[in-house]
Amino acid sequence: MKLDEGNGNLLQHTHGNPMTEAPPKPIYVTEPFLPPLEEFLPSLQKIWESRLLTNGGPFHGQLEQELAQTLGVEHLSLFANGTLALITALQALRIAGEVITTPYSFVATAHSLLWNGLKPVFVDIDPHTRNLDPARIEEAITPATSAIMPVHCYGIPCDTAGIERVADTYGLKVIYDAAHAFGVRRHGKSILLNGDLTVLSFHATKVYNTFEGGAIICPDAKIKHRIDFLKNFGFADEVTVVAPGINGKMNEFSAALGLLQLKHINAALAARKAIFEKYLENLKDVPTLETLHIPEGVTWNYAYCPIFVKPEHPATRDELYNRLKAQNIHPRRYFYPLISEFPMYRGLHSARRRNLQVASRISEEVLCLPIFPGLPLEKADAICGMLT
Ligand SMILES: *Cc1c(COP(=O)(O)O)cnc(C)c1O
Repeated sequence: MKLDEGNGNLLQHTHGNPMTEAPPKPIYVTEPFLPPLEEFLPSLQKIWESRLLTNGGPFHGQLEQELAQTLGVEHLSLFANGTLALITALQALRIAGEVITTPYSFVATAHSLLWNGLKPVFVDIDPHTRNLDPARIEEAITPATSAIMPVHCYGIPCDTAGIERVADTYGLKVIYDAAHAFGVRRHGKSILLNGDLTVLSFHATKVYNTFEGGAIICPDAKIKHRIDFLKNFGFADEVTVVAPGINGKMNEFSAALGLLQLKHINAALAARKAIFEKYLENLKDVPTLETLHIPEGVTWNYAYCPIFVKPEHPATRDELYNRLKAQNIHPRRYFYPLISEFPMYRGLHSARRRNLQVASRISEEVLCLPIFPGLPLEKADAICGMLT
């Protein structure tokens, strides 16, 4: 990280015009992590020589193995992106009818239900974890309910034991959207092992990226096998099609990049941790700006740095948002509006605001601050200075 920064500055000084000072670079909520380009060139050369571009090539196979090992899971199937992985996970388990889910997430969570002709049923979140509240899940179950799709929001684990208890009692499947939860563990064990299936995203904005990409964590080889058919048009072999599958395959470019990204993931996580702790150090004495609480025993991934602007704070959430934007700093209000506010959802009975009071309040308070490897710690200090 340091080295790249230094090189960038050097280039600017050698080639830039000293008379025209460039305006400060915008700072976005995140910036994709990329390894040095020269480390990637040998992989590109291999792809060009082999002419194996997709359809489960050698990099694809190797990444499935190495990722499973890194994440501490047994079986995993790579995808072109997280949304196709969510859609396919629902297909693989033949989910029908109603699915209970959270309004406090990225729209892809609920969209994956609509793409399967399923009815989302929104349930309020727990004010502390900001994830689905198992007691509220139980209240929302009807004879049409077949599954629960919780999200480990910001990578903070759901109450998986509580959700499992409800699911087992009522015979429901559980598909976790773990797009934020790459590498998260609880008491040393991967949280990706909960539920019937768990879905990851490797989009450019996530902690670990393959440009675009995703995966389904599978409990056994049998279901992985079926998912592998589904992501390849349903082909079981050259002449057998066993399901109306989709094209969800990860290509060799992304898989090769993913292998290289794994070599840098620990450094990237350490850089995120340092920035997160810098924010915390600055904000610990500002009770009107609540920060994220990492539960006891959780090895977290520092994916996001949300703060929650309390009504007693001298400035509102949107005032802080605009104040930072005026300085070319671009925080994001993840997640505002709630998914349940969008036109394709707001007519649902479960989308009524009084059903979602906790989620509504939190979505009005949240501001996600920039966090990514390469963000200088002084910038975190400066941003905190603008918040108070
Ligand atoms: C990013 C994200 C997705 C979608 O993943 P893509 O790889 O971008 O398709 C789904 N759910 C959540 C919670 C996300 O943050």
